[in-house]
Amino acid sequence: MKPNTDHNEALFERAKRFIPGGVNSPVRAFKAVGGTPRFVQRAQGAHFWDANGQRYIDYIGSWGPMILGHGHPAVLQAVQKALLEGFSFGAPTEREVELAEAIIHLVPSIEMLRLVSSGTEAGMSAIRLARGATGRSKFIKFEGCYHGHADALLVKAGSGLATFGNPTSAGVPPEVVRDTLVLEYNNVKQLEEAFALHGRELACLIIEPIAGNMNFVRASVPFMQRCRELCSQHGALLIFDEVMTGCRVALGSAQSVYAQSIPGFAPDMTVLGKVIGGGMPLAAFGGSRAVMEQLAPLGPVYQAGTLSGNPVATACGLATLQEITRPGFFEDLSRKTRALVDGLTGAARDAGVAFSADSEGGMFGFFLLDALPQNYTQVMKSDGARFNRLFHGLLERGVYLAPALYEAGFVSAAHSAQDIAETVGAAREVFQTLQ
Ligand code: PLP
Repeated sequence: MKPNTDHNEALFERAKRFIPGGVNSPVRAFKAVGGTPRFVQRAQGAHFWDANGQRYIDYIGSWGPMILGHGHPAVLQAVQKALLEGFSFGAPTEREVELAEAIIHLVPSIEMLRLVSSGTEAGMSAIRLARGATGRSKFIKFEGCYHGHADALLVKAGSGLATFGNPTSAGVPPEVVRDTLVLEYNNVKQLEEAFALHGRELACLIIEPIAGNMNFVRASVPFMQRCRELCSQHGALLIFDEVMTGCRVALGSAQSVYAQSIPGFAPDMTVLGKVIGGGMPLAAFGGSRAVMEQLAPLGPVYQAGTLSGNPVATACGLATLQEITRPGFFEDLSRKTRALVDGLTGAARDAGVAFSADSEGGMFGFFLLDALPQNYTQVMKSDGARFNRLFHGLLERGVYLAPALYEAGFVSAAHSAQDIAETVGAAREVFQTLQ
């Protein structure tokens, strides 16, 4: 029931006077689904409470970082201790070394890394480094993959895919994206054609191995294998953007999942964020020693950051990694996420609603489509109006999903069997209204 005074609405009106769209990141504005964004008052475990005191089961978890849920005691303790010791120095600390070691232990394709403050910074720095290390300018990205909002990465496919793209944002001059080649995800033929035409000019190929920015779409094993082979043959670096999937789909990240099907598989560089910072502004990019030593102060590729390796963020990241490394953590998380996906699928089937869903580790996605899509064009065939009804139906019942059909969802260790059952029960009611 709506309260007499809707505090979310009041805050949104106030916010819109001074913050564009009332939010500090566009998707928070509920523009795709309509309605008033929920202003979070506090959060604990798998739940948060909005400005009206309404409780929600949270399947966003800050868009991925909160793999332990909100307010995990070990993380809180580490952050509190770090705060008291001083929260920014601009000089190195032992904790940065410990976090680098911990990440490299989990993702062994990384020999060296650098810590930064956001996934955007990490992605754009990885591209610059790949260009600097290879002496080449062009690179491949895939339609539907998001790698942060750096200019050269804000590109959509040109007219006909496999063309150099067009800026997706005003303010990005066409010449800045001239060297960004946009291809269709999971399209081997197009990939081969692109390498045949441009292979000697390509610095790198950047990919979300399980794309979470077009909901949840896996790169097929043969496609990934071909990405690896073609990059190696043409001297281009294969960059895995694991900002979302890193330490989220498996302890060893998505690359460890592909290595199960492709013996010896590893990318040349990896971009990480979200989980490795546990909810604090922290991200990283890394790769082989030879490539990483091209970075300043050792090499000619410049990159820097006032708050890079921040002592509170590194404490939060380290405590988070320690928890997810405990035996059985990922087995439990995967089981729980699978139970959610299976429950939703069963509820949709019983209501006769077209539905397909997938998950890996603690990340999931679903579509109001009969079969799982393989690329962005197919994802966009999902029925937006129906998704919006599903979204609002669940929101009214206290379940908070990403407010757009092209976003993945996240389950945390704090979600209980009761949370999953409540969610499936709510979905069962809403699906009945969608027929
Ligand atoms: N790469 C991927 C795969 C992402 O999902 C995101 C953000 O959602 C980014 C990069 C950008 O990270 P940030 O928002 O921390 O700049």
